[in-house]
Amino acid sequence: MLFTDLQIIEPILKALQTEGYTHPTPIQERSIPILLNKHDLLGCAQTGTGKTAAFAIPIIQLLHNQQTPSKSYRPIKALILTPTRELAIQIDESFGAYGKYTNLRHRVIFGGVPQKAQTDALRAGVDILIATPGRLLDLMNQGFVSLQHLTMFVLDEADRMLDMGFVHDVKKIITKLPTKRQSLFFSATMPPEIVKLADTILVNPVKVEV
Ligand code: AMP
Repeated sequence: MLFTDLQIIEPILKALQTEGYTHPTPIQERSIPILLNKHDLLGCAQTGTGKTAAFAIPIIQLLHNQQTPSKSYRPIKALILTPTRELAIQIDESFGAYGKYTNLRHRVIFGGVPQKAQTDALRAGVDILIATPGRLLDLMNQGFVSLQHLTMFVLDEADRMLDMGFVHDVKKIITKLPTKRQSLFFSATMPPEIVKLADTILVNPVKVEV
C-alpha cells in the first residue's frame, strides 16, 4: 500500500513526497480511509506509530475541501488536545509539514509562557488549533476562543491526560464543543476509565488498534 492508494488530495501527496514518505504506517493505512469517510475513531496507538499523520492528513484534507475564501474570518474548525507542550509543538510542526501546500492556518497554544502572542493569533483567525487543556480552558474562560464552528475534535494521548490530572479540564472543554462533529480519540492503553471517557466523546466509533 502506498499513500497514492489512499485517495489523498494532491497538495498533501506533494507534501508527503517532500517529507520522503511513500508508504503509510499501519495506523495511517487503517485510519485515513475511515476518517475521510467522516467516521469517529477510537485509536489504540502509541507515539512512534505515525498516529500524528494518521489524524493530521484527513483533517487537512477535509478542511481544505470545505475552505472559505482566504480574506474572510477563519473560525476554529479543528481542535487537537494533547497533554504536553512538547507533543503540542510536534503536532503543530506536523500540520505545518503535511499542510504546507494548502493555505490552512494552524496555531499551537500551551501554558507556561505569556498569553499575548497566543491571543493575537486567535484574534487573527485559526483553522486548526493545537492546545494543552489548561491554557485552552484559561483562554476560553477569558473569551478568546470560540469553538462554535468546530467540525473536528481530537483527544490525543487520553491515558496520559488522565495520569497528569487533566481529565476535569478536558471534560469542561468538551461541554463547549458542538455536538455535531467528528471526534477522534487516541490512547496507548484502554483501561476502564479511558473506555468510559471515550464513550462520552465518540459516536459509533470505528476501533483501530496497532
Ligand atoms: P508519531 O507516532 O506521529 O509521533 O510519528 C513518529 C515518527 O514517524 C515521526 O517522526 C514522523 O515524522 C514519522 N512518520 C510518520 N509517518 C511516516 C511514514 N508514513 N513514513 C515514514 N515516517 C513516518
